[in-house]
Amino acid sequence: MRIEQAAGDSDTGRKRRRNEDAYVVRPPLFGVADGMGGAQAGELASSLAAAAMKESGLSGGGERRVVQLIQDANRRVHERASNDAAASGMGTTMTVAIVEPDGRVAFGHVGDSRAYMVRGGRLEQLTDDHSLVAELVRRGELSEAEAEVHPQRSVITRALGTDPDVDVDAFSVDAQPGDIFLICSDGLSSFVGGEQIEEIIVRNHRDLRSAVRGLIQAANRGGGDDNITAVLFRVADGEPAHYPPEPDERTRGLVTAAHDEEDTLHPEDAIAPPPPADGNAAEAAPSADDTMVVSAADIRAAIAEQEDTSAPQAGRGRRLLALLVIVALVVVIVVLVWWGLAR
Ligand code: MN
Repeated sequence: MRIEQAAGDSDTGRKRRRNEDAYVVRPPLFGVADGMGGAQAGELASSLAAAAMKESGLSGGGERRVVQLIQDANRRVHERASNDAAASGMGTTMTVAIVEPDGRVAFGHVGDSRAYMVRGGRLEQLTDDHSLVAELVRRGELSEAEAEVHPQRSVITRALGTDPDVDVDAFSVDAQPGDIFLICSDGLSSFVGGEQIEEIIVRNHRDLRSAVRGLIQAANRGGGDDNITAVLFRVADGEPAHYPPEPDERTRGLVTAAHDEEDTLHPEDAIAPPPPADGNAAEAAPSADDTMVVSAADIRAAIAEQEDTSAPQAGRGRRLLALLVIVALVVVIVVLVWWGLAR
């Protein structure tokens, strides 16, 4: 099995001033890290994780190797967070894939970045989010739809950097020719639904650069509230080959409006103008706050708060109803007065 094509890009999005995501496209190694922390600590955490990936070498090793790689990255981030006051409390997600010559793809995963596979035109999520809302969904205490708009949806329960050791999810997939794998930060998966991710990848399956661009554009159209990172690779039959290295540093500003107009493959990929600044819209869709990690105790507390968090939604509905009633009353009064004057 060989890697036929690979592409990756990262975009700051529309709301953040900095890009705290990092990614690596070094076939047969691929990865995404989404950093968090005050000031520039989030960028530092994710770039330390990316550096650990790049320095790990390219030899095989499967699941054991991805676990070692992530634990090594964790030690680096944790050491720096412990010794550098400015970096205190920083952390990062990390999702990594290594394609083995025998066609197995080993994945390692911590946090709420995700790995997906497109096989036979169908998208399948491979990783489980280590996030508060994902835990609640798994326990049946929250629906998928509720999780998508939950005010605490950016709270993650596992990250690199917060402890000297980290528990890594590791698994392998037996790749088939034509399989396309996606690794992305939550800035993509939170703002673009699975059906749309599938559609964009399937439509651009021959040109993964266009697919990456389409995914980032879709996330920006969906609000762009967070940094957006997508890495794609496709496997095919044949001997592993040498691949020219991709520019795997962040390429901020690459996806410009002019660039998009030239290269858009499909009218739907064009970036729509941003929605008008509207206080109500912002209120209706609370933007994800900076990612943070919580302990098990915090999760229990948050679950206890769970009922409270649905109250503001209901409150908004009631306020809207009250407004409609007032408008209706005003219309009735105006009609009655006009009718009275006309008589
Ligand atoms: Mn993020």
